[in-house]
Amino acid sequence: MAQSDAAKKRMFDNVYICMKCNARNRLQNPEKANCRKCGYSGLRPKHREIGR
Ligand SMILES: [Zn+2]
Repeated sequence: MAQSDAAKKRMFDNVYICMKCNARNRLQNPEKANCRKCGYSGLRPKHREIGR
Protein backbone atom coordinates (compact mmCIF):
# COMPACT_ATOMS: atom_id res chain seq x y z
CA MET A 1 0.00 0.00 0.00
CA ALA A 2 2.49 2.63 1.11
CA GLN A 3 5.12 3.44 -1.41
CA SER A 4 8.70 3.65 -0.38
CA ASP A 5 10.73 6.77 -0.99
CA ALA A 6 12.72 4.84 -3.52
CA ALA A 7 9.56 4.02 -5.47
CA LYS A 8 8.47 7.64 -5.45
CA LYS A 9 11.87 8.77 -6.58
CA ARG A 10 11.79 6.29 -9.43
CA MET A 11 8.33 7.48 -10.44
CA PHE A 12 9.42 11.09 -10.78
CA ASP A 13 12.93 10.44 -11.92
CA ASN A 14 13.50 11.36 -15.53
CA VAL A 15 9.91 12.50 -15.93
CA TYR A 16 9.42 15.99 -17.31
CA ILE A 17 6.29 17.92 -18.10
CA CYS A 18 5.95 20.00 -21.22
CA MET A 19 5.14 23.57 -20.21
CA LYS A 20 3.13 24.05 -23.37
CA CYS A 21 0.88 21.00 -23.61
CA ASN A 22 1.54 19.36 -20.22
CA ALA A 23 2.45 16.04 -21.75
CA ARG A 24 4.61 13.76 -19.65
CA ASN A 25 7.95 13.00 -21.18
CA ARG A 26 10.24 10.34 -19.85
CA LEU A 27 13.70 11.62 -20.58
CA GLN A 28 17.26 10.95 -19.65
CA ASN A 29 18.49 14.28 -20.90
CA PRO A 30 15.84 17.05 -20.87
CA GLU A 31 18.28 19.71 -21.99
CA LYS A 32 18.64 18.04 -25.35
CA ALA A 33 15.08 16.79 -25.65
CA ASN A 34 11.83 18.23 -26.87
CA CYS A 35 8.27 17.33 -25.96
CA ARG A 36 7.28 14.12 -27.71
CA LYS A 37 3.85 15.52 -28.52
CA CYS A 38 4.33 19.13 -29.60
CA GLY A 39 8.11 19.42 -29.91
CA TYR A 40 8.34 22.29 -27.44
CA SER A 41 11.65 22.42 -25.62
CA GLY A 42 10.31 23.93 -22.38
CA LEU A 43 10.23 21.04 -19.96
CA ARG A 44 10.07 21.03 -16.21
CA PRO A 45 10.67 18.23 -13.72
CA LYS A 46 7.54 16.34 -12.74
CA HIS A 47 8.05 16.73 -9.01
CA ARG A 48 7.58 20.50 -9.21
CA GLU A 49 3.91 19.86 -9.78
CA ILE A 50 3.53 19.35 -6.05
CA GLY A 51 2.16 22.49 -4.44
CA ARG A 52 1.03 23.98 -7.69
ZN1 LIG B 1 4.30 19.48 -25.46
